[in-house]
Amino acid sequence: MGLSTPDIIIINARELLTLSYDLSTEERERERKLGLIYDGAIAVKDGRIIAVGKSDDVMKVIEAGKDTHQIDASNKVVMPGFVDPHTHLVFKGTREREFLLRQQKIPMAKILKEENTGIISTVRWTRKATFDELLDESSKHLALLVDWGTTTVEIKSGYGLNLEEEIKILKIAKHLGKYTPVNVKSTLLAAHIIPPEYHMRDEKYVDLVLEDIIPIIAKNKLADFNDVYCDKGAFTREQSKRILQIGKKLGLKPKIHADEMSDAGGAEVAAIVQAVSADHLVYANDDSLKKMKEANVIAVLLPLTTFSLGEEKYADGRKMLDMGLTVALGTDYNPGTSMCPSMPLVMSFAATRLKMKIEEIIFAVTINAAKAIEMDKEVGTLEVGKRANINVLNIEHFEEMPYRVGENYVGTVISNGEILKGG
Ligand SMILES: [Zn+2]
Repeated sequence: MGLSTPDIIIINARELLTLSYDLSTEERERERKLGLIYDGAIAVKDGRIIAVGKSDDVMKVIEAGKDTHQIDASNKVVMPGFVDPHTHLVFKGTREREFLLRQQKIPMAKILKEENTGIISTVRWTRKATFDELLDESSKHLALLVDWGTTTVEIKSGYGLNLEEEIKILKIAKHLGKYTPVNVKSTLLAAHIIPPEYHMRDEKYVDLVLEDIIPIIAKNKLADFNDVYCDKGAFTREQSKRILQIGKKLGLKPKIHADEMSDAGGAEVAAIVQAVSADHLVYANDDSLKKMKEANVIAVLLPLTTFSLGEEKYADGRKMLDMGLTVALGTDYNPGTSMCPSMPLVMSFAATRLKMKIEEIIFAVTINAAKAIEMDKEVGTLEVGKRANINVLNIEHFEEMPYRVGENYVGTVISNGEILKGG
């Protein structure tokens, strides 16, 4: 049998983080956990990883052809592409005024009287945009994430808030997954807030979500997950439970925006409905976190949201890890509370504010994030057979990632075997 000819070969990586750990090796604990290979190489063919290991060993099992694209990663770190498990990137318009006024501690009720503030203003802009306009805008948002090394992303609806408009947003998410090399999972978030036309008729809107929107989205397989914003001023614990349970029955796995602004019982609902993940968790109580752990719910933490809100209280990532929860990190990219596409910046906040250790942070932006959107069989580690989602970083040591605050050291981005940045 002849040697395989790869499409891409990355060689001489100073540090190759495979994140696949082999219990039989005798390497030091940390290196084993990160699956760290010095002078590593990785070969890609037809969008998949076909070989990974020491440069010498990989070169023995492949044969570079004249069309093989070679990337020399000397003095660089190579790792899996980032997985961003929580974004709202299909939207139109920006809300910079709201961001600025918030920092001046102006009451939200007053801010909302200004133009272009609040989720509702994004809903108005998004509803008004045609499919093509919104696709164009969303593609630009996605390109920003890719520039920072994100190759797998979860996208939520929630700026449509009626059947037709939620479908428009979810179709755009699907389109991005189909026509770009980025992996996309989509989430229905019809229960984001109560739309203006249902003002003071909350239960009527909940009925619409339960009886119309969820069944049709599920039937047409327009989303992978069903999410609800469970918090003070949004959906109650009881409403959230009903919304997630109905979705689950119809095949949409539950996710939840839990306890972002107050201890509203969201984390507990996540445990009851056995959600795939509970996200935010700034105010979640210990008892609920314990229940989440027992129900294997992944904690998705979004520190850039807390930062953008100008708040002091961050989710207690350290405590959750010490309790044994699986923790993932995301950007929460959205026009209201986190206009930031950078997973590297999330990593800096995870270190400084969530007190997470470097290995925990690396897992949280790769394999754990992949678990939070059920993509862990395909991405999140560098292993033979998995999708070739790879970042080459212009740093010499993986510990530099959170330390280089705000710097874009992502040199080359490969998703499903296609080079999206650098080369
Ligand atoms: Zn969110």
